Amino acid sequence: MRRVVRVKLLPTPAHSTALTDTLRVCNEAACYVSQVAFDARDSQGRTGTKFILQDVLYAQIKTRFGLGAQPAIRVISKTVDAYTTLRSNLVEGNLGLPGTPGRTKAESKPVAFRPDAAQPFDKNCLSWQHDTRTVSIWSTHGRLRGVRFVGQPSDLRLLGGNKIGETDLQNVHGQWFLIATLTLPTTPVVEPAAGFLGVDLGIVNIAFVGTDRGVAVADWSGGAITLRRKRNLALRAKLQANGTKSATRLLKKRSKKEARFVTDVNHQVSKRIVTKAQRTGHGIAIEELTGIRERVRLRKPQQVALHSWAFAQLGGFLTYKAEAAGVVIIPVDPAYTSQTCSGCGYMSRLNRPNQAEFACRSCGVLLHADHNAAVNIARRGAADLAELNAVAISQPGFDPSEPRRSLRRLTQKRRRAANPALQGQGR
Ligand SMILES: [Zn+2]
Repeated sequence: MRRVVRVKLLPTPAHSTALTDTLRVCNEAACYVSQVAFDARDSQGRTGTKFILQDVLYAQIKTRFGLGAQPAIRVISKTVDAYTTLRSNLVEGNLGLPGTPGRTKAESKPVAFRPDAAQPFDKNCLSWQHDTRTVSIWSTHGRLRGVRFVGQPSDLRLLGGNKIGETDLQNVHGQWFLIATLTLPTTPVVEPAAGFLGVDLGIVNIAFVGTDRGVAVADWSGGAITLRRKRNLALRAKLQANGTKSATRLLKKRSKKEARFVTDVNHQVSKRIVTKAQRTGHGIAIEELTGIRERVRLRKPQQVALHSWAFAQLGGFLTYKAEAAGVVIIPVDPAYTSQTCSGCGYMSRLNRPNQAEFACRSCGVLLHADHNAAVNIARRGAADLAELNAVAISQPGFDPSEPRRSLRRLTQKRRRAANPALQGQGR
């Protein structure tokens, strides 16, 4: 399994200058590689592969920009990665249809790199000394030794005890960070004795919890948050119309206070769910965060009521509290959980006569919509874990270093293949 850990560097002023120069030179080189690749692209807009570009440009950028062998290779692969990302965005239609202004703009010029864009380092250019909590890092000013770093205690433990792969050097508002990718050993996950609690996150109900056996466990109303937000929105409109300095100050204070309130609620709700799971021997299944964001985007009129960050935050709190408590937590693909009957499995958009109710067109089950979705999420958690432990490892296309991600890919593929009607349909 891969895990990403971020630590902060505490460079001396001289180190800091060297790091700034290093990023600048690497990104100048990347822009140069990008231009060459762009000029040589074929009629379909494809740029050369890593190997072709390396063949042609490796020696040249080493001398031209004074880069070492490894940094030169990293610069080339970073540029190739950027073109791969651009290409898949174009293919997926994320940049619009052919001929639209946004897409034309993206296609008509080489990928550019900011002077302070992050740069990957491998073990030849970056070594970690865990006992002194320092790194030694290659720079255009020579090797920098004894650069101190700090981080969360749990992250530092992970760093000290696992294989560290590629690491990005990043500058955010003048502060230096290393983003390290770790490979953690894969161990089979013990299936929770009592099954799973499914958590459905929503707006009317912040969280609705149901078991994979169909029982509703708990729900938290979003009423208090919505009310407070509405009041604040009205006040904000008034203050914005006023526009004075003190009004702006008050506005900032208010929105900070509001964020604190939501954070507080999220802490309480996530703590209650995790405690419940731990006490009753359940695992927790939650929607994948990307799914939550998509769903919030779909329900446009309600966006004002609760921002997507609040959902993402609750998901994050649940994850780290569950991990700390030793409770199994599994993110599941939430597609169609709101339209599928938890009683008989029948799936139809018509099963949802309105936002609050679930009424199955096939078996006649009538449930609170969030209750139905929570049960479906719990079952998906149980099914995904069983598959993760048993079948998946022998399946082609399963990558043991990233069990959850590959499992998700495989289940999504299977679900879509099993029911062609699902393809292209919304939730
Ligand atoms: Zn049904």
